[in-house]
Amino acid sequence: MIPRRPLLRLALVVLVAAGLVAGVRALRPVPDTRETLYLFGTLVEVEIHGTPEAEARAAIADVGAHLQTIHRDWHAWRPGLLEDLNAAIAAGRPFTVDDALARVLRQGRDLSCASGGLFDPAIGALVEAWGFHADTPPEGDPPPAATIAALVARHPRMTDLRIDGNVVRSTNPAVQLDLGAYAKGAALDLAAADLRAAGVSDAVLNAGGGVQVIGQHGARPWRVAIRDPFQWGVVAALSLRPGEALHTSGNYERFLEAGGVRFSHILDPRKGQPVQGIVSVSVLDTNGARADAAATALGVAGAQDWPAVAAAMGVGAVLVISDDGTMRATPAMRARLEPVSGGFPGPIEVMPLPEGVSPPACPPDPAPAPAPAPTPSP
Ligand code: ADP
Ligand code: MG
Repeated sequence: MIPRRPLLRLALVVLVAAGLVAGVRALRPVPDTRETLYLFGTLVEVEIHGTPEAEARAAIADVGAHLQTIHRDWHAWRPGLLEDLNAAIAAGRPFTVDDALARVLRQGRDLSCASGGLFDPAIGALVEAWGFHADTPPEGDPPPAATIAALVARHPRMTDLRIDGNVVRSTNPAVQLDLGAYAKGAALDLAAADLRAAGVSDAVLNAGGGVQVIGQHGARPWRVAIRDPFQWGVVAALSLRPGEALHTSGNYERFLEAGGVRFSHILDPRKGQPVQGIVSVSVLDTNGARADAAATALGVAGAQDWPAVAAAMGVGAVLVISDDGTMRATPAMRARLEPVSGGFPGPIEVMPLPEGVSPPACPPDPAPAPAPAPTPSP
């Protein structure tokens, strides 16, 4: 006969109940947590999967605070760290920035160098001259040709920067930094790192034209779409793999309209003129800053040259849409594009990237100052 052991029986009941509860929990997934933040002049949607809501909301609040700081520190035309740095550069003075700005400037300088200067965040004065240092699209006439010619003649370039630790100086006082072409990508890289550090393993960050994912949405990948630059709708969908970023630069959101002509907010640093011909460039990469910078650079490069510039910048998956509606994609991008509602808006021409393209050699940072010699003790 089994001895009556009420305590053991009770423990068994508790364990079974606990097991059942755990089983029920496993069957009922944690709901997704979604929040929208307003940053960088756009809405940033954050969606977290598989993290309990309280933790997810706390992680989003921290990311929001971090992005807010970046927004202020990296802003091109409002008071903040970057504006102070620009004032110092114009005055020929060195200026000490924080780690995050030093890092993003190094990254911007290297990407600019790789792009052959087609992506060049040193052209802030040109961007301002075209009226794009404002929250609303500019109105009125384009700037006088002489103004633009004078600014181009001063050749501001990212490669004029010397970044020694956190001390930034420029060999050219015409450099005025505007990080608008890659700040969103760089910021989403940092936000994704924050989420990972907070223990989030599956999330998507979507900031108008820029998307970055962590992990998957449960058993399936995060799916995103590329906007149609000509009308309301999308040209294709894509399933993003863990850690990927997709950035699209286009002239359909911010532009100057004058005399029936639409002037893009993406400028060719060589001529100081808005780019023409290409209306949308999407780049898929594992680094958001590089994808965003490349999307801008390839628009400047134009229909002939973009494949060589993509190769030099090290990006493989690109979709380019021209103003006549032509769509061209690299093989790596074409393989990832999925039609939405029955098909693509038109044929997609496949453009292989040239092989053996190496980026131009970029100037190294100054060598770190030698450690001071120890003072001899008396
Ligand atoms: P979007 O805002 O559509 O994502 P971009 O990423 O290309 O577009 O960013 C465009 C912004 O970058 C402009 O508003 C301007 O501030 C800046 N910019 C314009 N042309 C260049 C360029 N050739 N290189 C670097 N920055 C640029
Ligand atoms: Mg860009």
